[in-house]
Amino acid sequence: MPFPQERPRRMRRTEALRRLVRETTLAPDDLVWPLFVLPGKQVRNPVKSMPGVFQLSVDELVAEAQAGYAAGVRSVILFGIPEKKDAVGTGAWDEAGVVPRAVRALKEQVPGMVVMTDVCMCEYTDHGHCGVLKQPKAGGPGQELVVDNDATLPLLAKEALAHARAGADVVAPSDMMDGRVAAIRTALDEEGYGDVPILSYAAKFAGAFYGPFRDAAESAPREGPGIPKDRKGYQMDPANAREALREVALDVAEGADMVMVKPAVPYLDIVRQIRDRFDVPIAAYHVSGEYAMIKAAAEKGWIDEERVMLETLLCIRRAGADLVLTYHARDAAAVLTGKPR
Ligand SMILES: [Zn+2]
Repeated sequence: MPFPQERPRRMRRTEALRRLVRETTLAPDDLVWPLFVLPGKQVRNPVKSMPGVFQLSVDELVAEAQAGYAAGVRSVILFGIPEKKDAVGTGAWDEAGVVPRAVRALKEQVPGMVVMTDVCMCEYTDHGHCGVLKQPKAGGPGQELVVDNDATLPLLAKEALAHARAGADVVAPSDMMDGRVAAIRTALDEEGYGDVPILSYAAKFAGAFYGPFRDAAESAPREGPGIPKDRKGYQMDPANAREALREVALDVAEGADMVMVKPAVPYLDIVRQIRDRFDVPIAAYHVSGEYAMIKAAAEKGWIDEERVMLETLLCIRRAGADLVLTYHARDAAAVLTGKPR
């Protein structure tokens, strides 16, 4: 043993010593709980692929948020499932739509809760894409349709504005259109909502981990003539890290107050690289597929759900995330605070 004095183990001997030198903490304040809201009253539809997750009507959503608040959750992010869908996603900026109604109800009945809203078109378009579709000019005839980036921007701005008017604390565009942070920032500022921050889904990767979410939000791209079968034309390639840094730099320059990486665990290297280069708060979205895998393995008795959940969330924080969006939020908060879930 050449360096007997070098013995990091010494500081692991007792829990008190371990706590003394612990580098990363996990607290309920770090967690954001995604919730799905749909029209109706007393609706509580379980999402099959996500045990413990429900599609909720506004009244049930308020009750769910109150239970979460009692367990220690201090932030939620809302996804809407509208009554009707159409080609341009008109429901997205309906001020009487489910999301603005849910925001108003939460701000009134759970006043301590930070209410974020997801801003995107895919829940509201009948084709399920994150923007309006058009015939492409590049590539000649016979191409499949593409999302019209620039025509989508004003629609996203209208949606963000509808959420801000309802009282949203943070708006979170997830569409991955270029220029949307600037478009939303300008629209908010012009209407007097200069104090509403933007959490941009800056590095959102096109991958397979969103499957269960699309059941929950009913937002999977629909099959049809010319309709792109996936979102690879606007979401990021899982192979790319440098491009993620470029996306973050652009969003920060456009006025993003916080940036997000989505999914979380397979992309922790991206979180770390962003942490090392940027000073804005970073969010990581522990997505539905990641949640479903933990739930399924736990159901089979193959892992200890509680320990794997806390370790996963802690490690996302260690990689550099300030906040973690997770379906485990209420359960994790309850464990961390010792309160009932
Ligand atoms: Zn979308």
